[in-house]
Amino acid sequence: QNAHLTSLKNVATASSDGKHPILAANIGTLADLQAAVDNGAEGIGLFRTEFIYMDAQQLPSEQAQFNIYKTVVKKMGSKPVIFRTADIGGDKELPYLHTPHEANPFLGYRAIRMSLDQPGIFRTQLRAMIRASAYGNLSIMFPMIATITEFEHAKQIYEDERAKLIAAGVSVGRIRLGIMVEVPAAALLADQFVNVVDFMSIGTNDLIQYVMAADRGNRRISYLYQPYNPSVLRLIKSVIDACHSSGKPAYMCGEMAGDQRAIPILVGMGLDEFSMSATSILKSRALIKQLDSRKMVTLANKTVSLASTSNQVLKYVHQALAEP
Ligand code: PEP
Ligand code: MG
Repeated sequence: QNAHLTSLKNVATASSDGKHPILAANIGTLADLQAAVDNGAEGIGLFRTEFIYMDAQQLPSEQAQFNIYKTVVKKMGSKPVIFRTADIGGDKELPYLHTPHEANPFLGYRAIRMSLDQPGIFRTQLRAMIRASAYGNLSIMFPMIATITEFEHAKQIYEDERAKLIAAGVSVGRIRLGIMVEVPAAALLADQFVNVVDFMSIGTNDLIQYVMAADRGNRRISYLYQPYNPSVLRLIKSVIDACHSSGKPAYMCGEMAGDQRAIPILVGMGLDEFSMSATSILKSRALIKQLDSRKMVTLANKTVSLASTSNQVLKYVHQALAEP
């Protein structure tokens, strides 16, 4: 790391005109947690808890999970930590669960769909998270939410476990509940989701694959996996706008949040938190420092209203960054 980047480690992220988006880290293990701290993360925007399940030979116990969650929130102190409930299935299979093979795993039995179908596993995980909330600044979000009904069902199970713990005398902190916006249906209904969630976090890795109907891991069609396609940008902007029109924060935790070419556009859209791999944080902080957010608003509007291809979008970004 060069000295310039290291000097930004303990500095709050700020644009040249004084906007303060949060730069957070995506983590999956306790080793990642140390990297997040070492790179000056202002929070954890995504803890991929399914890694805990994938690293084990059997379902991890409530106590084992609690120990991990508590370690994370304690280490981050007052900084916000968002735990995502297990995103199992799709490309992340658990051998010990013996789920049947599916023809279209990315469109199948995964994430919140599985959690609601096997609520025992889900309840154990929620209890561990709720107990850990007493030790820091903890939020919970649900992956792959497609309908309001799914969210309300998940929330009701959460409320039920929370009430039981409180009745048993366990101390519990304030917890915010949110969703990943990675299914186009949820993105399109963002203006209704904002009435029931505390925050939304856009998961562009999946959102792009579902918007473009292009498997995120298939190289033969990777030309279609386009973060800068104006269709994707419009959808992202509409989600952020929906959040802000009801005073809720909009976050992003897909790879796009740490993409140096996407960040100027996302700053212009007013994204409140960028969650990325730890190694991208300092260079993103350095980039944002150079940006005037008001100029980026113009850039973002231009990309969603005028551009019709990814290349045009990239050209606009290139020009905007070259201007003094
Ligand atoms: C996403 O889909 O953008 C995301 C952050 O989740 P994952 O990459 O774990 O699917
Ligand atoms: Mg995802």
